[in-house]
Amino acid sequence: MHNIVYLGLGSNEGNREELLEQAISLLVEKTGNLMCRSSIIESEPWGFVSSHKFLNMVVALETSLTPTRLLDITQRIERQLGRKHKSSAKLDYQDRPIDIDILLYGSRIIHTTRLTVPHPLMLQREFVWRPLLEIAPNILWPLTGQPLRDVIEK
Ligand code: ADP
Ligand code: MG
Repeated sequence: MHNIVYLGLGSNEGNREELLEQAISLLVEKTGNLMCRSSIIESEPWGFVSSHKFLNMVVALETSLTPTRLLDITQRIERQLGRKHKSSAKLDYQDRPIDIDILLYGSRIIHTTRLTVPHPLMLQREFVWRPLLEIAPNILWPLTGQPLRDVIEK
């Protein structure tokens, strides 16, 4: 149980609060201890047009799972909570009952076919970095070792 991971959760379909809570329960059941959870914020869809706004939040978990096993489980939870379609470059972004992204895995930098960590778009998405900084104000950006809040300010 050594790795602290930060996950970004989002929902814009169905009972969004309930789906976020269910996702957290399943994450705790399958991956490890919940260390911290941010407040929930509402945001406009990003990268696609929809009348359904998102609720977003970030949670910190302590886990002994490897990054790939963690992704297996987050994807299984997405399917379990009703996520049907996989967005691809062609399909573009779509409404989804739940999206779980691995934002940070300790201070590790990961590039595999299935996984890029830190999450490549997290600096551009205020609905990700704002709740992350709320629960981890001093966290360092793994790519440069600077405080994330300084990286965001620029
Ligand atoms: P998005 O989150 O961008 O809306 P999806 O949730 O459908 O898109 O994820 C698309 C793919 O992104 C997944 O198949 C997964 O393998 C890949 N992926 C790459 N890096 C990450 C990451 N850090 N967290 C979650 N998924 C990732
Ligand atoms: Mg995702």
